[in-house]
Amino acid sequence: MKICVIGYGSAAATSLIAIDQFIKERNLKTVEVTCIHDPKTPTIKVGESTSAKFAETVAGLFGITNLYNNKKEFIKIINNFDGTLKQGTKFYWKKAHGNNFTINLSEQSFGLHLNSITFGSFIIKYIKKKNSYFNIIKTKVKDLTQDGNGVKVYCGKNVYEYDFVIDCRGIPEKTDLKDYSLPDTDFVNSVILYSKPVKNKTDNYTSATVHRNGWMFSIPLRNKTTWGYLYNNKITSSKEAIKEFSRIKKIKASKLRSFFWNQQFKKQAMEGRVLSLGNRLNLLEPTGALALHYYLKLLLTVLPDIMHEDGNYINFTYTSAIANRFHLESIQKMQDIIAINYCGMNNIKSAFWDYAKRKSNERLKNSADFKRWLHNYRNNRLTSYWDFSYNYFLSYINGYRINLGTKNVDVI
Ligand SMILES: Cc1cc2nc3c(=O)[nH]c(=O)nc-3n(C[C@H](O)[C@H](O)[C@H](O)COP(=O)(O)OP(=O)(O)OC[C@H]3O[C@@H](n4cnc5c(N)ncnc54)[C@H](O)[C@@H]3O)c2cc1C
Repeated sequence: MKICVIGYGSAAATSLIAIDQFIKERNLKTVEVTCIHDPKTPTIKVGESTSAKFAETVAGLFGITNLYNNKKEFIKIINNFDGTLKQGTKFYWKKAHGNNFTINLSEQSFGLHLNSITFGSFIIKYIKKKNSYFNIIKTKVKDLTQDGNGVKVYCGKNVYEYDFVIDCRGIPEKTDLKDYSLPDTDFVNSVILYSKPVKNKTDNYTSATVHRNGWMFSIPLRNKTTWGYLYNNKITSSKEAIKEFSRIKKIKASKLRSFFWNQQFKKQAMEGRVLSLGNRLNLLEPTGALALHYYLKLLLTVLPDIMHEDGNYINFTYTSAIANRFHLESIQKMQDIIAINYCGMNNIKSAFWDYAKRKSNERLKNSADFKRWLHNYRNNRLTSYWDFSYNYFLSYINGYRINLGTKNVDVI
């Protein structure tokens, strides 16, 4: 079986880790994997906070099965991409019913902070060095076509053929936008980024600090800390946001990098033999560091069907249906979790927060999944993976009152 992963960023690296795990676990002998990427097309260079599941999977690539007991060994490895173990997230959130709060990852587990500039290339080079099944082609992909027999990848004069392609080409071109939908949770769409070397770190927590135009994350990497000031450019001008961030961080505007993105998600994650992943699949926003975690979860749903018989017995139509259902359900649940971030448990009054609180409350009141979670929470019945994820965000909505159709329910 011939698999192609297009891209050299964090999503491509995540795909290659998951594929490597499958090949090794199932001792698959006839799989060939190729990474095609265009060195002239830059990566997005943002996205550095991840989950415990993500950290465990990266550790698995290096033969570490129990991350908690082998953290020293893992730290030596993640030094290569400036990584740190993540213990949780600290919120400086100006809450009405309490002060700041911390959400810790579950006991005996760590997430991973990674440097988005070096993570992809380090992982992909490592996999290349260790495995003869793996090959890299540096070229620009112009087009993809497929029929019942395989996928053709057009790269200038060369055309390559594969059984299955994972497309991690990053943010799509404007011409492809007809394949995408817009989420309700369009609260932030702009960021101002700033990194600086920091020698004496106090801890390994992602931090999230509320401000009048949105909120700001900070990620403690080994050799530097990165800050991202998030806002909505339809509410706050970039000039005003840069001025405000320069004031908060006491830094010249010329040292800042800023960009806007459109929040969107693909209507279909998998079309026949092509799975989209990374920002090609969906780009929502940084709340909860959900993105890389989600790409991994989706891949782990798809790969057992794709790779179970060494390529001899694969039903792509069936697998696409499963992947697309998983994708659309997950996007709805991720939006609930994002809405929890904005639903109002802070004291700030501003144009941004008025908009975000109103819209996120509307969403949660109409979300069947959120109501089901609240119901389970009230009855002390939390079972599924998503129940756990909602539960993880409980501290945000501590004190939240929601009308569940017939009665008001307080989350305490
Ligand atoms: C403000 C912000 C904060 C975020 N924070 C987080 C976070 O904390 N945690 C998290 O998990 N995610 C976060 N994300 C999402 C994050 O960007 C993605 O998880 C992650 O970086 C995936 O990027 P990617 O690999 O899809 O794309 P990229 O890193 O942009 O890589 C795209 C790759 O495709 C290649 N390529 C493009 N076109 C072609 C072509 N035609 N032919 C060949 N190769 C091509 C490029 O060369 C590149 O290698 C954040 C996003 C934003 C906007």
